[in-house]
Amino acid sequence: MSEVRSAAELPRAGYALLGRSGTGTQGSPDGDPRVSVDGDPQAYQTPFGPTPSISLLRLRSETGEEREVLFTRPRDIREQAPAAGRVSRSQQSLALFWALQRAGVGRIVAESGAASITQHFHPRDLVIPHDFIDFTPQSSGQLEPGAAVSMRDPFCPDIREVLWQRSRRFAAEKATRAFNRAVHASVEGPRFETAAEVAALARLGGDVISQGVTPDVYLAREIGACFATVEMVLNYAEGVRPEWDFDLLRAIVREGAEELGKVALDAVAALPAERGCSCLEHGKGPGPGESGDLLSA
Ligand SMILES: [Zn+2]
Repeated sequence: MSEVRSAAELPRAGYALLGRSGTGTQGSPDGDPRVSVDGDPQAYQTPFGPTPSISLLRLRSETGEEREVLFTRPRDIREQAPAAGRVSRSQQSLALFWALQRAGVGRIVAESGAASITQHFHPRDLVIPHDFIDFTPQSSGQLEPGAAVSMRDPFCPDIREVLWQRSRRFAAEKATRAFNRAVHASVEGPRFETAAEVAALARLGGDVISQGVTPDVYLAREIGACFATVEMVLNYAEGVRPEWDFDLLRAIVREGAEELGKVALDAVAALPAERGCSCLEHGKGPGPGESGDLLSA
C-alpha cells in the first residue's frame, strides 16, 4: 500500500462492506464475478488520523445496476500502512466512519466471527443480531463528543432481512443453522473472557460475544447510515461446553470464511436501491447543548 492520501481523494460510494473473519481473511470479494476492483487499497487522512486501507469495489446488484462499495479488511493495527503510524482500533473506527460519511455511504454491511456464550448457538451457526450490549469504553465511540444517538432498532431491519434470506440459504446448503435474532455482547479484548465473565454476560442477556460490532453500530447511526452484521459462531466461549479448541476454530474459519464473506456481499447486491427503513428517523438526537431540554421535557 502506498502513502496516506488526502480525504479530498476519497471516492464517492453509497455502500460499505466491513470485512473481518470472512472477506477479511480467507475469502475476498475481489474474485467474485460480480465485482471489479477500482485501484489499490488506500488509506486516507482524517481529523482522527489515517483510515485503515480502503478498496473501492464496483458490484453488480441483483437488479443489474452498478454499486460503488467501500471495502475494508479487519482494522488490525498490524495491517496499517507503515506511514500511518500506530493508532488504536477505536481511533481507526473513528477515522473510518468519518471517511464513510465523507464518501456518502448510506448503508453498511459487516461480517465477523463470534463466540457463543450460551448452549443455544453452536459453531458454524450464522447469527444476525437484532440488539447489543456494549461492555467496551464508550468514550472513544463518538465523532461528535456529547451527541445523543438513539439506539432504537440499532441494526437496520432492511439489511437484517436480506442477510437473513442469504443466511437461510447458506444454512440449508451447508447443513448448519441461521438465526435472525440474537443479542450481541461487545467486549474490549484483546484477551478472551474468563468463564465467570462469560456466565455473567449470559445472565445479562447476551447470546454471542466478540470484540467487534461496537463502536461500528453506533458510529453508523451517528453518520446517518444503516448498519447490520452477520456473524458466524466460531467457538464456544470459555466455560461453555465443550471447551473451545483452536484447531477446530481455525478449521471453521478455513471452511466457512469465504462463504460468510459471500453472504455479506450478496446482501449488498440484494438491498433495494431505495432506503425504506426507519433508521434515518432514529438518527442523531439533539446536540449537547439541547439535550437538557429533551431530558427535562
Ligand atoms: Zn436502515
